[in-house]
Amino acid sequence: MRFAKQLARELLQKHGIPAAVEDLDAYDHECLATLDRNIAVGFVVSTFGEGDPPDNATGLYETLSRWKGNAAADRQQTQPLKDMRYFTFGLGSTKYQDFNGYVKTLDAQLLALGAQRLGPVGLRDEADSRTDETTWLPWKDAVANELLRFEPSLVTQPVTSSAQSTRMPDYIVEETAPRARLRGVMHAGEHNAEQSRGRIKVYAAPVKNSRLLSATIDGGASPPRTYIHIEFDLSSARPPLSYQTGDHVAVWPINNDNEVVHFQQAFGWSSAQINAPIEIRPQNSSHQDATMPPSPTTRASLLRFYFDICGVVTRETLQLLADLAPTTAARQYIESLYADDQAYNTQVVRQHLTCGQIMATAMQLAPMENKVAPFWPQELFSLFLQTLPPLQPRYFSIASSPRVSSTTVAITVGVVTTPVAIGNPTKNNGSERDTIFHGLTTNYLHALHKRVSVAVPSASSVNGKSTTWNQPSYTLAGPRGMLAGSKALLQIRPSNFRMPADPTVPLILVAAGSGIAPFVGFMQERELQLAAGTAVAPTILFFGCRAPEQDYLYAKEWARLEQLEPNVGDHKYDGGQRFFSMYTAFSRSGPSKVYVQDRVQQEQQQVARLLTGQRAAVYICGSTAMATDVKTVLQKCLETTGLSSDSAQLFMRDLKKDKKLQEDVWA
Ligand code: NDP
Repeated sequence: MRFAKQLARELLQKHGIPAAVEDLDAYDHECLATLDRNIAVGFVVSTFGEGDPPDNATGLYETLSRWKGNAAADRQQTQPLKDMRYFTFGLGSTKYQDFNGYVKTLDAQLLALGAQRLGPVGLRDEADSRTDETTWLPWKDAVANELLRFEPSLVTQPVTSSAQSTRMPDYIVEETAPRARLRGVMHAGEHNAEQSRGRIKVYAAPVKNSRLLSATIDGGASPPRTYIHIEFDLSSARPPLSYQTGDHVAVWPINNDNEVVHFQQAFGWSSAQINAPIEIRPQNSSHQDATMPPSPTTRASLLRFYFDICGVVTRETLQLLADLAPTTAARQYIESLYADDQAYNTQVVRQHLTCGQIMATAMQLAPMENKVAPFWPQELFSLFLQTLPPLQPRYFSIASSPRVSSTTVAITVGVVTTPVAIGNPTKNNGSERDTIFHGLTTNYLHALHKRVSVAVPSASSVNGKSTTWNQPSYTLAGPRGMLAGSKALLQIRPSNFRMPADPTVPLILVAAGSGIAPFVGFMQERELQLAAGTAVAPTILFFGCRAPEQDYLYAKEWARLEQLEPNVGDHKYDGGQRFFSMYTAFSRSGPSKVYVQDRVQQEQQQVARLLTGQRAAVYICGSTAMATDVKTVLQKCLETTGLSSDSAQLFMRDLKKDKKLQEDVWA
């Protein structure tokens, strides 16, 4: 949405082309076929999973697929979008196999329905630090040129000078009437339909149970880790929420209080001011903007529950901060952070600097004049309303089976706490101080975990130094107390990661780290079938983690499953009839790293036999890098049966096509 809004703003302010921004889910897709010829439609879309549309684009995908089907059935081959002009920009990462898969699908669908594209398909790559310079900026220019070429009459507004245009707030912030008058209508940070994309129900689910899977691990040269298993209770959801084994849970995070305080101090707001009602109005009353933040509200509500202020600050925001810095020293400091790629990467990305942290540091650089701190101008907050990204949910694979309890849904959370050394220019001539970067959603869930559980380690050691965990605090009760009782807002998101319906199909499961989550659900389901007297094929699970005493997740569970008596009925499984076998790869407990793909390779004969002779299905879950290496090894396993490299590749392709090779991988 941030990109779409920026594009719309620039089209109007730099080129005089008016543009309205709308969430894909809130737009009536049927209108695309009846649009006026002088209207062009832009699509800014991300990709989910293996080239799938994100939640708010599934409606569009279905509409276009239906039209395509109708057009194919129609002998006259009508093209419902023949009058439509469009442009597309994809947000993706080359860390995923299907890089920007959905925008490519969308483009192909639109072209097939007769629409004409303006400019190239933009492909942003989150994994590339230069992606703004190499994709977004040239794409925006190309699209603006094409729009002007295609229809000069689009220009209906006078163009402002570029210096003015980039810093003109879209919104005016007004202090409003006394709180009493607003009580009924005030937005206190409640989740609204626009945020949840309308389609999938959002539910405030209480934590039913939460336990540590591993204590905080000192990662040596790597970040320390804590893993937790959290179960949410869905029993009071109305209408009832249901899920299938292999689905995902989307958790809506809230920002930690420290980041909110950075903003409060930077703008010099008293507690009364940050909690005072404000009204947000569009600067230009004729300006249609469906993306305006909710109003009336308070600054605290927006910062705690609406905007994502815990992420690494973008270059665009740094530029904004430099332009409006309260002192020369502050401006110079901020400019130095994004002077070039290297500066931005080493000083901002690697140190996980947030907007609030930078504003706070920049303030300390200036001497206090007349004992008054140089606060940031209030105009900056108005500009933040149009530039800060709204909070988005984070996805977790479900670590339970509804067959065991249909009203309990579990997730496995690796709490991200990364020690970073920030060079603080105000202290000791720029010497470094230690700080901890807290991953947004995982630390929020950790705080929820601490609320419901009893004993949690409060201290650990980071990189050999003893460190007291200074864990951030959260307003866990949520807006108007709607999350009181240890609740979190969540959604169930269906996935394609599905077990075979036939229990006599053997399973080869491969996971590393918290990627183990869905296999907890898989094995719950297979164990139930076994207990019910059904013949169940063997499962072999390859699991990779750092060391047995550190992060061997659900170890007791796997040991118990290994002891269960098998029941394979009349089936014969070459290479063993056991119900469950575990193969572990510990990367940090021996003289050299052993990864999960190494263990698969060691078992290559068994794996190849299961794949070629026993109809086995393979499931991989974890990081994309791991999954890529595992697939390479699987192909090599197949080659040991005498298949040529090409035939083994074909075999893998068929497995995928037949849904016998499925992946649930995230970067
Ligand atoms: P990691 O993936 O960081 O680490 C787990 C183990 O994998 C470690 O022993 C690590 O070794 C090893 N490893 C590192 N690189 C590779 C590689 N290229 N090939 C094979 N093994 C490797 O564990 P996390 O728990 O931090 O992360 C899990 C991953 O799974 C994340 O990418 C997450 O997004 C993804 N995921 C999580 C899900 C969830 O629901 N929580 C669901 C689906 C995917 P070492 O560090 O010693 O090098």
